[in-house]
Amino acid sequence: MNIIYITSEVVPFAKTGGLGDVAGALPKFVAELGHEISVITPFYRQAKAYCRSAAAEQRAADTGISLSVPMPNGAVTARVFESVLPGSAVPVYLIGNDEYYDRDELYFDRATNADYEDNCERFVFFCRAALETIQALHLRPDVLHCNDWHTALIPVYLKTLYAERKPLSDARTLLTVHNLAYQGVFWHWDMKLTGLDWGLFNWRQLEFYGKLNCLKAGLVFADLLSTVSRRYAEEIQTEQFGRGLDGVLKERSNDLYGVVNGIDHSIWNPEVDELIPAKYSADDMSGKAVCKEALLNGQGLPRREATPLVGVISRLAPQKGFDIVEVALDELMQLDLQMVVLGTGDRRYHEMFKAAAKKCPDKLAVNLTFDDRLAHQIEAGCDMFLMPSRYEPCGLNQLYSLKYGTVPVVRATGGLADTVVDCDGKSLRRRTATGFVFEKYNPVRLLAAVERAIETYHRPAHWTQLVRTGMAQDWSWHRSAREYIALYEKVTE
Ligand code: ADP
Repeated sequence: MNIIYITSEVVPFAKTGGLGDVAGALPKFVAELGHEISVITPFYRQAKAYCRSAAAEQRAADTGISLSVPMPNGAVTARVFESVLPGSAVPVYLIGNDEYYDRDELYFDRATNADYEDNCERFVFFCRAALETIQALHLRPDVLHCNDWHTALIPVYLKTLYAERKPLSDARTLLTVHNLAYQGVFWHWDMKLTGLDWGLFNWRQLEFYGKLNCLKAGLVFADLLSTVSRRYAEEIQTEQFGRGLDGVLKERSNDLYGVVNGIDHSIWNPEVDELIPAKYSADDMSGKAVCKEALLNGQGLPRREATPLVGVISRLAPQKGFDIVEVALDELMQLDLQMVVLGTGDRRYHEMFKAAAKKCPDKLAVNLTFDDRLAHQIEAGCDMFLMPSRYEPCGLNQLYSLKYGTVPVVRATGGLADTVVDCDGKSLRRRTATGFVFEKYNPVRLLAAVERAIETYHRPAHWTQLVRTGMAQDWSWHRSAREYIALYEKVTE
């Protein structure tokens, strides 16, 4: 099959979250399984910087293709550059337009502390430029794999404005929802930007409470839908998690699948990780102790025998459970643990962690930045990893944690529920336990789960078993890529 993977971010070119990780990995594994696949993504300032850096395997080559993309105020030019996904031959086509993409951030305007005002225009342009690029390169895709709201208008275009553009319009579409919270909702006049017929602006198609909803459009028009865990696929069909789109999703229930993301074992793997002070494996864990010591030193935390070190790496947003952490934090700090936090996000949680670290400098170290190296060091150096999300479409850090023998303490939602097996008498006996899972979203249950984890930490035989079972799990891309290929086959049937 020939697949085009269209995404608003891809590692190592540009990333703000999990979507970037997925886009940087899945295509390589699909290619390894014998399919043709290319990636299309915007040529952001971050991507340019990467392509110029020493780390880049290949500079961005100008393809010489300059496209005239129809926009409401006249054609806008897209210059197409080409690079590759590192460690593979997967081509990455970068859509260049400096006015739209040469900015400080991908989506967020630092000056106004809000999303860029022209985000609708930026991604309408991207969708159309991606389709024009496929034509200009004479690619003959079987499947266009779209991701999140940024690319969700593509299935609409294929069935409307591009319906006569053979062979492009013969391609089938799969739309993957990485996080239903981000829908690309814009005021109704932005319909004009899309170039689509106003007839589509009705409650069964593109309209959403009087506004334009790009994700909804994709959910209605894509041939097949998927999201990033089975549990999340079920959850988003309920009012509680559906963000107003549960009705649309329920209607498409038969076309909606859940595929848990994989992790890239060439990057996130303590046996080969170049960013950690000592490598280790399940058979020889001595390196993990070195990593813990180095992390404690680096973070200015004193070494304490038999005290577990708990890691947090996260966007500091309410989604990630920081409202219940806020209530539980004082009591958490009373427990026999030390904690390293790495994250950026809401001011409120910055202040919360800063104040707590000031109060408990021996127990809590806080890093309010984005730091990939430190993220690896935390995964390697900690004993436990806390992820108390209110909702979590898939989650990657619990998967990294399993691989690094860092026992996850998670809330039972979305991908966390699908990938972590709670430690109780039965699962310990059966040797299936991999972490600690709490059901109800409240600070009391969160504390109880951390306390259970600490108790088990002090039973070395049980703890070792948990760590080993976790490290033996296969959450690699090999598994997920096969599941995606099954979806590509299904959508082209
Ligand atoms: P989400 O996509 O909702 O933010 P995921 O768990 O799916 O959550 O993916 C988060 C990714 O971003 C992981 O690779 C994680 O390590 C990384 N990450 C999040 N915050 C930071 C940070 N402050 N520094 C470094 N990496 C981070």
